[in-house]
Formats: sequence, C-alpha cells, structure tokens
Amino acid sequence: MTFLVGPMQMHLDGHKELTAHNEIIELKPKERVYVPLLHGNAVVKPLVNVGDKVKIGDRIACRDDHFYVPFFAPVSGEVVAIEKHMSCALKPVDHIVIANDGKDEKADLATLDEEAKRDDIIDFMKDKGLVGCGGAGFPTYIKYQTDKCSTLIINAVECEPYITADARMIETRMDDFYRGVKALIKASNCRECLIGIKENKTELIALLKERFKDEAMVKICPLKDVYPMGWERTLVYALLKKRYDKLPIEVGVIVSNATTAIMLAQAMTSGLPIYEKMVTVSGEGVKNPHNVLCRVGTTYKELIEACGGYNENISKLALIAGGPMMGNTVTKDEVAITPFANAVTVLKYEDIKPLACLRCGACIDHCPSGLQPVNINKAFKAKDLDLVKKLKAQDCIECGMCTYVCPSKIAVTEGIRRAKRSLALLKK
Ligand code: SF4
Ligand code: SF4
Repeated sequence: MTFLVGPMQMHLDGHKELTAHNEIIELKPKERVYVPLLHGNAVVKPLVNVGDKVKIGDRIACRDDHFYVPFFAPVSGEVVAIEKHMSCALKPVDHIVIANDGKDEKADLATLDEEAKRDDIIDFMKDKGLVGCGGAGFPTYIKYQTDKCSTLIINAVECEPYITADARMIETRMDDFYRGVKALIKASNCRECLIGIKENKTELIALLKERFKDEAMVKICPLKDVYPMGWERTLVYALLKKRYDKLPIEVGVIVSNATTAIMLAQAMTSGLPIYEKMVTVSGEGVKNPHNVLCRVGTTYKELIEACGGYNENISKLALIAGGPMMGNTVTKDEVAITPFANAVTVLKYEDIKPLACLRCGACIDHCPSGLQPVNINKAFKAKDLDLVKKLKAQDCIECGMCTYVCPSKIAVTEGIRRAKRSLALLKK
C-alpha cells in the first residue's frame, strides 16, 4: 500500500493570470481534422473507411477491450485518410483524417431527460464515450458502476501551472456545470457532493456558492493553493482525511473532473459526445496566451496560430502536451487535440546540464506517492527491474515534483517514466 508521506505539497507559481480573464477564442475547424486513435496503450479500431461521409457525433472508432470507449467525428465531411501521425503520447498512432465540408451537420442522436434514472445516466455516459477531461481520459461510466459511493468529489482544483480551462468552463457554462453535477450525483447515488476548488479562486467560489445555495448535499470546499492538490489521492485526503490503496471507491469516493460534469450536461441536452474542447494555450513561448474552444482533432499548430503564433523573441522553445509538471514534451506541433486534452504549453527551452546526484533526498521528501525517485532511477540505470518493481515505480503519477525540486537539475521524472515503460513491456 502506498501512503502519503513527506511535505508532498508545494505552492508553485501558477502563471494563471496569462489566461484566467482573457476572452475565449472560438476557433473554427480548418479544412482537415486529425482524430488520434489513442486511449492509453489500447488498440482503438476505426469503424469507418476512406471515402465514408460523416456528420458531427457519428461514431468513427472504438476501443472495445475491458474498457468501452467510442470515438466520434468532430466535423461533418469525408474520411480522406487513416494514417499515422505523431501523438501527445510521444509515438505515432493512427489518426482518422476528415476533410471538413464546413456544413457542421450534426448526427441525429438520442438525448437524455433530466429525470432519467441512475442506470440510464451511466449507460448514456458509456454510449457517448464520456471520459475524464482533466487529462487522464479514464472512461467515466466505469467509476459509476458501483453501489459503494457515499461521497462524490467534483475536482475543480486545476493545480497544474498555466492551465485555466476548467475554471473558464465553469465560469462561462455555470448552468451546464450545475446540471452535470446533479446528474453525477444521481449516477453515483452518493450522500454528499464536495466541489474542491483552490481557495484563491474567490470570484468563482462566490459564483458556485450562489448557484448551489439550494442544494443541501453540495458543499463548495476551498483548498490550499498547493501542488498536486488536484491529484485524486491528495484531494481525497485533503477533503475527507481518508487514504486508500488503489482506487477512491475503496473509501466510498468517486472523483470526477469539473469539465466532465459540463460535458455530460451538454451531451444530455444535445445528444452530442465531446466533439470540442476548451484548451489553455499558454506559456512565454506563445504571443497571446488564451483559452481556445476548438474541435477535437485540431492541431497544436492551429491553436498556437490562433494565439498569435510563437514568441519570436525566444530562439528555442519547448512544446508541451498539457502543463509543465505532468505534460509530455513533444517535438512536432502537428499533434492533435484528443477529447481529454486540456492544455498546450510553450516555454523557453532551457539547455540544462544536470549535475551529479547529491543524495539530498529532496525528491523522496516531496514525492506525493511516497516513492523513492532517486533509488528507482538508480535501480533502473543498473537494469535491476526487480528492484524497480519492488520500489513501486508503477505507482508514480508523473507529477513532475521530483524533477522540480532536484537541486542537481536531474530529469528524475523522465527516468521514472522510462522505468515504468520498461515494467509495462515486461508484463506483455
Ligand atoms: S513524478 Fe513520480 S516519483 Fe516523481 S514526485 Fe511525482 S509521483 Fe513521485
Ligand atoms: S533530489 Fe536530485 S540530487 Fe537530491 S537525491 Fe533526488 S535525484 Fe539526487
């Protein structure tokens, strides 16, 4: 069992002011969208062929193993290719390329009444491919297939620096958020619902308190501005003082991301799955950082162009899929937005020359998963995968904290990612 140990939380400079109050750019889809057939390491099978005509919301691919996750057309038009492109997972994966006909024709899809029963809501989530919108993309219906939930936590913390997409979604779609939370309460069959949000978002907290004032079982819970408060394990402990081994449901808790609630409400009204996303495009490497509402399948290049392009005053840039702590650095801006993407961050590239490990233990002290990052990396370098496993590298949530605190500027997290990948390959 992994326990929370050490200080494990730290205030980080959020840089949220870059996008927290800007207008939202509504980006029209370009001539082509590129839908990545990507869900974890699973195979996602296309359900369409080149030449097929599609409308928005048509099912075009599906993961169908122990998880069921359908993928949908984000524009109307014609499938013109199924080909490999680089993805946010740092590997080429098949993409369904759709030539946009510009008509925005929508498929005629079933909606769901607000009076719908619990099982119907869960089936609806599954049918619409609803996934966690906080970056992980876990299928939502799976979490709700339980009778053990006493507390539903809505995660509106958004602790990763630069990202403000969730906050802007709630602010601008408060009614959808309210309806989505009510639907999730019914789907979870919980006794209480806690909305976790950072205490410094005072205006949003006031709006939430006003909107939920007649809902006795919903409580707005301000939380400290520390990282990684938005991680499920930290959040559950901060709100309920409960610890668990693998999943929050072990202590009667389901955690869902705030945007996921909004997406559910919107799907219930329109019948449409997630076909567009709010994405925070930020960092010093972008001329005019903004939140951009774009179609799934929009490329990073198009998003950055919508924000004025790259900052030409910086000669070398680092492009990150997600935020700077948990995101992956990608080498090409042809990477496309998935239904679970929420940010693209562009920072000044720093050519860091790491020093030797000082054995200072800072990475151990700050690991929120209670791991020994320095020792995992040492074992991995020595090719001792048994020890890597024993040190529970697989429990690493890739929060980036060990790299952040390392005085020798060692890319500790990257080493652990590699160790995890090696362990995963061993399993196959
Ligand atoms: S990246 Fe992994 S090992 Fe490093 S601090 Fe976070 S959880 Fe711990
Ligand atoms: S924080 Fe860096 S220098 Fe300190 S023990 Fe960990 S890897 Fe070594």
